[in-house]
Amino acid sequence: TSTMRRLVIGNWKMNGSLAENGRLLSALLDQSGRAQDAELAVCVPYPYLAQAAQALDGHKAAIAWGAQDVSVHARGAFTGEVSADMLHDFGVRWVLAGHSERRAYHGESDELVALKAEVALAAGLAPVVCVGETLQQHQDGLAHEVIARQLGPVLALGAERLARLVVAYEPVWAIGTGQTATPEQAQEVHAFIRATLAAAGAAQVRLLYGGSVKPDNAAGLFAMEDIDGALVGGASLDADEFIAIAAA
Ligand code: PEP
Repeated sequence: TSTMRRLVIGNWKMNGSLAENGRLLSALLDQSGRAQDAELAVCVPYPYLAQAAQALDGHKAAIAWGAQDVSVHARGAFTGEVSADMLHDFGVRWVLAGHSERRAYHGESDELVALKAEVALAAGLAPVVCVGETLQQHQDGLAHEVIARQLGPVLALGAERLARLVVAYEPVWAIGTGQTATPEQAQEVHAFIRATLAAAGAAQVRLLYGGSVKPDNAAGLFAMEDIDGALVGGASLDADEFIAIAAA
């Protein structure tokens, strides 16, 4: 088991509505006491940041809120983008950087992802840098190589900034597939990421596992030494499941 405070972040992706979110947020608040030892957060679609802020304000210690992406630009002619300062305006604490869906569908490069982490940090937000290999890369035994490449520009941020971010290992073959990495598989990669960060002077960075985390597999994952929490997609849309994961 990790000695760090467990961090469990929900990634709602492009789901929800004012009505659904209202129910989910109040159910999460009602149940958050069951997961008191964990730090909790939900990353919501941009239009619902105000709703999350209003619902969770005053309960930030129980459940913080975040965004799923951020622009690398500060302001100006960047139609459709949202800046780190704008997120900060809405009380955002966490922001995902380089989720595999952004890398795959929006061509986000390792350099861009590191830049997103950098601008987020500069605005006082905490980035969750997502890394992970595809199924093909997994089968070809390239996981470490791929992750080392993804982390490269992030490591260049330096120890002081690395200490203020979180890394999420999300094997692409496990995201939304119901095929979770085994605790041993995840631990093996987490140990590699830990060693890579340690070599950059940042051994204390919290490492989250993501990829079909559910209440029935969470405890096994959290029993591993280098798994400090989880990034949860599908199961974060159900308050019972999300809190059960955090409490596992
Ligand atoms: C994710 O996309 O961050 C994720 C972990 O999704 P899921 O839990 O649905 O696999």
